[in-house]
Parts: sequence; structure tokens; C-alpha cells
Amino acid sequence: MVRGIIFDIKKYALHDGPGIRTTIFLKGCPLDCWWCHNPESKNDQIETIQQKINSVTSTKIIGKYIDDDEVFQEIMKDELFYDESGGGVTFSGGEPLMQSEFLLSILKKCKKAGIHTAIDTSGYCTNHDLKKIMKYTDLFLFDLKLIDNELHEKYMNTNNDIILNNLEYLFSEDRNIQIRVPLIPGITDTKENMNDIRGYLEQFKNLFLLNFIPYNQFGEDKVLKFNYPNKFGKLRLYKKTEIDEIAENFKRYGFQVEIGG
Ligand code: SF4
Repeated sequence: MVRGIIFDIKKYALHDGPGIRTTIFLKGCPLDCWWCHNPESKNDQIETIQQKINSVTSTKIIGKYIDDDEVFQEIMKDELFYDESGGGVTFSGGEPLMQSEFLLSILKKCKKAGIHTAIDTSGYCTNHDLKKIMKYTDLFLFDLKLIDNELHEKYMNTNNDIILNNLEYLFSEDRNIQIRVPLIPGITDTKENMNDIRGYLEQFKNLFLLNFIPYNQFGEDKVLKFNYPNKFGKLRLYKKTEIDEIAENFKRYGFQVEIGG
């Protein structure tokens, strides 16, 4: 039995890979993105926050310890939906690879049961851990945020060498990869970064889907409850035409692009 720590299980998820999925959110993330709307995912320990409902303040516990069997049983409850929709299970976070033994154990059980497996990853993990889980993972939902290393350090507090090396490794192993680029106004959507991302991805001859995920304001209130500093105030929302223009710029170079996901 391997124990891990999660902060949520989402049933009937439609945007975390193909078909109807169960998404398991593992707690803990090595990145510190300025725009993170999953503050409950950052810390790898159980936390408490104060919440106010109808003027009554109460304490809410964030995260719970759980063992691999329990998670697997929860996943298997919706096996019929996966079969009918071509879905499966997605491990998200936080960064699921921070708990690589826990993740590996559940992945093995899922593969044995014929469940499609996806991992939503920042790519910030050891190559050793990535190799361990790779053969039990059907799809990598791989985030690509900023190519410029100085900007990556500034906005995420981490270097992107590890991330890019891991992505290159997965492509070299011909894994099934979907690249997810969060569009953050003035940060990741700049002309320079879009050109850098396009230039970087052009080296890979493998077929892959590129998802742009436009910034939305859901979760801004949640961030305040965790007392994380809001480093850039309120960000603006995108117009549809702006997103279409970004997508078209990539499609012109032969990329298969989707918005959202
Ligand atoms: S990688 Fe995701 S979970 Fe981690 S800090 Fe960035 S946005 Fe938040």
C-alpha cells in the first residue's frame, strides 16, 4: 500500500483529456506561477483556511491522506462511462510527479484494469521519475508556459531547463503528448513568447495537439483565502478575436490547435 495526499477528485471531467474522465488532484507543486488559481495545490501538506458562508466563519481542511487502493476503487466506480466515451483517469495537481511512487502505484493498477491514463504535468520533475511512470501513461498533458529562462524564473520561480529536457525526452520516446499553453495577458501571450514557443515546437516532427488555455478569472477569490500575495492585481479577459488570431498564427505553420481543454 502506498499513501499519498490529494485535495480533490473531480468526476465526469470533460476537459482533462479525451472522453469522460475522473481527475485526481494531487497536492504539492514545485512551481510558483503568479497566476495560479489552484492555491490549494501548492503546498504538499494538509492546510486549514478560514471560510465565510452566510456570515458564519468556519475552518476548512484542505487535503487528505489516502492510499492507492482507495483512489483506484474511486476511479473504477465510473468504468462504464470511460468505456462508452473513450475516457479514463487524469492525474493533475499541483504537480502529480511530486508524489511519483503513489502515482506509479495507481497508474499500474489502472493499466492492469485497462483504464486510459493521462497526466497533467508542469514537466518539472526528475527524468528518473518520468521514466518510471512513462510506460503506464497513455497521454501527457504537458504545460509549456515561457521559453525565456529569465522570465520563467521571474514568473514561476523555477528554471525551465528541466521542463524542456523532459519534454524533449518524451518526444524522443514517441509518447502521446498534448501541449497546453496558458495564455496569460502580458506574460505568456507576448509576441516574443509566442514566436519562441512556435520556433521551439517546430523541431518536433511527432504529431501532437496544441491547446491554448486563455486566462479566466475563476479562482481569483479562492487565492485570497490562502494569503498568497497577489502579484499583479486583476488581469483582463481575452476577446475571442485575440485568441483566434493567436490560434491562426500557429495553424498557418501546420500546428493542430484547439482552444481550451
Ligand atoms: S504549475 Fe499549475 S499548480 Fe503549479 S503553481 Fe503553476 S499554475 Fe499552480
